[in-house]
Amino acid sequence: MTRTRFADIILPLAVRGRFTYMVPESIIDYVKPGMRVIVPFSSNRLYTGIICALHDQPPAVRNIRTVSELIDIVPSVNEMQLKLWLWISEYYMCSEGEVMKAALPSEISLNNYKQKLENYIILARKFSDDELNKILDSLKKAPRQQELLLSWLRLSGYGSGSPDIPVRKSSLLAESHSTPAAFETLASKGVLSSRHQPVSRISDEVTDMEPVKKLSAAQSQAFNSIKNHFNEKDIVLVHGVTSSGKTEIYIHLIEEQIKKGKQVLYMLPEIALTTQIILRLKKHFGDLTGVYHSRLSDPERVEIWNRIAGNDDSGCYRLILGVRSSLFLPFNNLGLVIVDEEHDGSYKQHDPAPRYHARDSAIILAALHKAKTILGSASPSIESYNNTISGKYGLTELMERFGQIKLPEIILANTREAYKRKLMVSHFTPELLRAMDDALGREEQIILFQNRRGFSPYIECSECGWIPVCIQCSVNLTYHKGINRLVCHYCGYNTGMPSKCESCHTTGMVTRGFGTEKIEDEIKIVFPSARVARMDQDTTRNKNSFNKIIKAFEERRIDILIGTQMISKGLDFENLTVVGVLNADNLLHYPDFRAHERSFQMLEQVSGRAGRREKQGRVVIQTSDPANRIIRLVLRHDYEGMFRLQAEERKSFNYPPFCRLVRINVKHKDRSLLNYYSGILGSDLRQAFGKRVLGPESPAISQVQMWYIKTILIKIEREKPHARAKQLIADAIERVEKEKGASALRIAVDVDPY
Ligand code: ADP
Ligand code: ZN
Ligand code: ZN
Repeated sequence: MTRTRFADIILPLAVRGRFTYMVPESIIDYVKPGMRVIVPFSSNRLYTGIICALHDQPPAVRNIRTVSELIDIVPSVNEMQLKLWLWISEYYMCSEGEVMKAALPSEISLNNYKQKLENYIILARKFSDDELNKILDSLKKAPRQQELLLSWLRLSGYGSGSPDIPVRKSSLLAESHSTPAAFETLASKGVLSSRHQPVSRISDEVTDMEPVKKLSAAQSQAFNSIKNHFNEKDIVLVHGVTSSGKTEIYIHLIEEQIKKGKQVLYMLPEIALTTQIILRLKKHFGDLTGVYHSRLSDPERVEIWNRIAGNDDSGCYRLILGVRSSLFLPFNNLGLVIVDEEHDGSYKQHDPAPRYHARDSAIILAALHKAKTILGSASPSIESYNNTISGKYGLTELMERFGQIKLPEIILANTREAYKRKLMVSHFTPELLRAMDDALGREEQIILFQNRRGFSPYIECSECGWIPVCIQCSVNLTYHKGINRLVCHYCGYNTGMPSKCESCHTTGMVTRGFGTEKIEDEIKIVFPSARVARMDQDTTRNKNSFNKIIKAFEERRIDILIGTQMISKGLDFENLTVVGVLNADNLLHYPDFRAHERSFQMLEQVSGRAGRREKQGRVVIQTSDPANRIIRLVLRHDYEGMFRLQAEERKSFNYPPFCRLVRINVKHKDRSLLNYYSGILGSDLRQAFGKRVLGPESPAISQVQMWYIKTILIKIEREKPHARAKQLIADAIERVEKEKGASALRIAVDVDPY
């Protein structure tokens, strides 16, 4: 019999490849892939790694090291997770260690995860109502015991229909003003008992449960269409206009999966969206539902991790609502993955590696589990829609709003005209002001969208035109009035407002352009009696700030909500009837081949927030270019028109989905050395890829945090296997990194850049 003498181990390093260690005799019978081990690495450093394979093939090196310690008794990471890590590392050209770093909550990877155990009180057995009443009566002579039991019944939610919640012993004693002795007596009588279990860090809000809603005829049709597609295809794109009730359809699909004993992953692009949808889901699925996002503390993450893996007897999650990184949770029985707002660019991680696309990786995750995937959107990505045309994905369409409400009426407001004719009030056109007036008069609510935070994107000397820029990046500093500072949105550098121009020393510094902060200020002047709030990165730094703002808006304690793209997606407010887009121009004029697609999606999304219940909503789009093709398409809610236009353009200029893109970002702190080395890399790549290499060129922002940047873009044919092309790219990068003096060069590869 061969013995597993060697373990291939993933270490949290950017170095590609696995590391082989000897397995000591003492643990040979226990080791399994997915277990954590401690291993020595370079000079005396110890690392926690994950075993990904066991075998008896001695590696080619002479001094093979030995595993120092085995941490786990059962694997921390399952086989499917290891396969997903490998796929991501190969597809997105990074190390498995980098994927591991993104995937594991740091408490698990640092190996200092200890569960804090606490005493929880539960009923010693199931009692009938009669029995409980008898016990309570008999306890009249022992008021402390009676009080204790009554408090337990209250705190555990007994009789609510859902399972009792174990009550922490310390809270029970405090709440009931009782004594440990009273508890001991109740325990000896067989009424209550205690058990040790990990302390839950997750505050499970108790929600009233409801059965799932009955689907409308159009929704049932869509539901059936999805199920029919699933007989033949693994992936279905649900193209449903905003407020068509896609979420309700997903809820029906989730219910089926849960009944079958399966797990479901429901992905959203934005943390702000999880707030509303989690409540909708908990109404139907209660404690089976968990939520996972970047605002959680490490202990919370670990708890969720364990509840999904089923390592935790405090209840196993069957439905996870989460952002990008929820893909890495230890699902063991996934039946369905839902990627909502699938077109959203936030699904792509930019920095650091792994630069993965969560939608595309989720499809792989689902495939590993033999599960199905739903991609949902009101304005699908060109890529996904194209996959329905080629037959790779099924397509289900839902073209009417729930309740037959009409899609919002779109009003274009020409800012150029309005400025010329002096009709603008601050940044607001007469059209927008009229719509807002109407809404406020009817006590309806308004959302104003401006995709820039801060007060003004830059300030300028009115004499000589000098503009303060970041000392570390090639970007203008944004003025934030609340803190009265100039801030770099790329690196966070900030400085006081200059009293004088640094170039001509006059005192005429003026603010230019406008961000959400300025809009908030001015709206308060124009509508002094309206209640105004703002939602952007600056107002949502605290853990619960999203919930607070969204709740206040739901409860109509806010009349006008101003925000960035955070408020543009997926939210569902009953009384919101008017949406204003303050400046559509800066969406359209972004230097990127996806700019038009994105503007369409953004405008369609934000419009979709308006008029979702009783009556048609109104959207006012302010633009200096009302004849713009994309704006005209938005006006008609013409997704297919947009798709045809974009697909044609991309086909003729050879852009995705008609090719694959790989972008290489090269950085150096010395500009001329950057030019030199990126030039070498460019020519080397041309040897293999010829004209399909673009660049090196300077991106729009050519310096960030002191690093100068050049990018090289490579177009790879869609039909050809991309593994070979990626190998050629990796080889070329390795060669330039080995050049003399190239050690201060930083090279990052971004596959399918967004
Ligand atoms: P989408 O996800 O397509 O934007 P939602 O699922 O949020 O749409 O539905 C829009 C609104 O209509 C929500 O408030 C939702 O609760 C309501 N709704 C949708 N379908 C139904 C239904 N079958 N019964 C009752 N209300 C529904
Ligand atoms: Zn000046
Ligand atoms: Zn900066």
